[in-house]
Amino acid sequence: MAGEPQADCLFCKIAAGEIPATIVRETDTTVAFRDIDPKAPTHVLVIPRAHYPDAASLAAGDPEASAAVLREAGEVAAQERVAGSGYRIVFNTGAGAGQTVFHAHAHVLGGRDLHRLV
Ligand code: 5GP
Repeated sequence: MAGEPQADCLFCKIAAGEIPATIVRETDTTVAFRDIDPKAPTHVLVIPRAHYPDAASLAAGDPEASAAVLREAGEVAAQERVAGSGYRIVFNTGAGAGQTVFHAHAHVLGGRDLHRLV
């Protein structure tokens, strides 16, 4: 069923606490944790607890969780003190765009000059 945890999904396991991660924020519907291979001083992933393969399917299947992910991305930026200097919220969508984990997630990137990061 749409949104149900998937046994073979890395981020479902992180959301369930079955795989360790450095969690920076949690809500009933979202988890935010540090990327294992950070591309900026702040590089946090915000995921919905519900399993959807990408941001578009999340938005279509669970609009409230989709909004919660965006809201939490903003809260992470404030908590990490990068909101004032500017930050990126990135949703890689599809393997051709660099998506490697097929559980919807927002990258929150900040703390360095991001002008040249497409
Ligand atoms: P994508 O390439 O799908 O947009 O982003 C997946 C992100 O997940 C990558 O930036 C990658 O470094 C991160 N990642 C992959 N495996 C793990 C893990 O086990 N723990 C954490 N914290 N991040 C991971």
